[in-house]
Amino acid sequence: MDFSELSFHETPHIKIKPPGPLSKRFIQSQKKLEGSAVSYPRGLPMAMKRAKGATVEDVDGNRYIDFFGGAGVMNVGHANPDVLKAVSEQLPLLTHALDIPNPPRHDLVEKLHSILPQRLDRVLFGGPTGSDAVELAVKLAKFCTKRHPIIAFSGSYHGMTSGALAMCSGRLFKEPFLPLLSEIHFVPYAYCYRCAFGRTSGKCDLECVKYLEYTFEDPHSGVSRPAAVIVESIQGEGGSIIPPDGFILALRELCTKYEVLLIDDEIQAGFCRTGKMFACDHTGIIPDIMTMSKALGGIGLPLSGIAYSKELDRFSPGQHIGTFRGNVLAYAAGAAAITFMKTTRLADHANSVGNRMIEQLRSLEETSNIIGEVRGKGLMLGVEFVTDKASKDPAPKLAANIRTECHRRGLLIEIGGHYFNVARFLPPLVLTPELADRGVELFAESVAAVERSR
Ligand code: PLP
Repeated sequence: MDFSELSFHETPHIKIKPPGPLSKRFIQSQKKLEGSAVSYPRGLPMAMKRAKGATVEDVDGNRYIDFFGGAGVMNVGHANPDVLKAVSEQLPLLTHALDIPNPPRHDLVEKLHSILPQRLDRVLFGGPTGSDAVELAVKLAKFCTKRHPIIAFSGSYHGMTSGALAMCSGRLFKEPFLPLLSEIHFVPYAYCYRCAFGRTSGKCDLECVKYLEYTFEDPHSGVSRPAAVIVESIQGEGGSIIPPDGFILALRELCTKYEVLLIDDEIQAGFCRTGKMFACDHTGIIPDIMTMSKALGGIGLPLSGIAYSKELDRFSPGQHIGTFRGNVLAYAAGAAAITFMKTTRLADHANSVGNRMIEQLRSLEETSNIIGEVRGKGLMLGVEFVTDKASKDPAPKLAANIRTECHRRGLLIEIGGHYFNVARFLPPLVLTPELADRGVELFAESVAAVERSR
């Protein structure tokens, strides 16, 4: 599929070194008038004016290739014409309806059921953000099992509301706010580049899964029987971590054996991002509960929900209420986005462009002294920076400098990972091979510039 008409032509185009004067004015005003928690403009100092496909323009007229994609929201591309049409047709008709049925809601639910695993035959919308879906998934798991503990993973990110935050592993995010929800236990994720058990990638016995089994099986493991295990089939904020084959399958088997519910958080990895409709589709497993958000709202309209099977459909009416549990415009956007994903075979496109980028990034890895690992699936890619390949000491400062160099050259990227040392690429999936190649070139130039100046 040729997506070239969806993005701005002549991109990247840097008219004035970013941040330009107009961007600076917006940033200064934001600093003065908004709260100190504002974070993205610190790493990407710019004010955005408009965006199209896989490209973004700032208020100074600079145009960028977007490898950031609104942190994994814009799967069908900024201003996707099919989605814009659906939303603008809906706008004058109806925009808010609580959970009273309406045509766009009906349409979206039907479309979701056409792409979800058949066993997950119930959908429930939560509040507008991903964190709300996580809260809802955990609430349902506790309600159905009548148990309290939850098992989460190192490197996990599930959101910023109290419950979701309690299931995030990052100290920076949660330490100042402790204590949060009690009885959340963390076990190591299959982060093979930095294996918690000292094993080498491809040469292990999935010790991480064995450790989880021990927590289930040993009455003195210190972990009471959990309601659920919550996992990202592919970890996002943790650093685009792709677990080895067999990891998710083994989790599924353990959860079934010990009658613990498996929650698969697909908020970032879902909707074609990894080259399949959902990341768990790579593994052949079906979770008990799946969370969805980000790309669910099509072009960034806020929407989140969960999918689960009818055996878990036990809430009484009103047991999970809220004014913004679903949004009519977002339903229309989501339904149009799913149609676009299917008709354009967007997952296959993400897979082929992602493979092409991984190959180019692996060549870069061979010649660079500061790239520890390149990894990814579909268009969920990570490049982990280290001070040197032997010690693997994380290099967050180098990663931050590379983001700045990319920005100056016309490429937007995100930083994440356990040590904030992973460049993360989550471009709109309508990224063309040409834009992908140019973006990787700009990235390579930025890595070289930072390496030279060390
Ligand atoms: N779960 C995952 C896997 C995420 O990546 C995120 C956000 O990045 C969330 C949950 C939280 O979503 P939100 O930021 O919309 O609350």
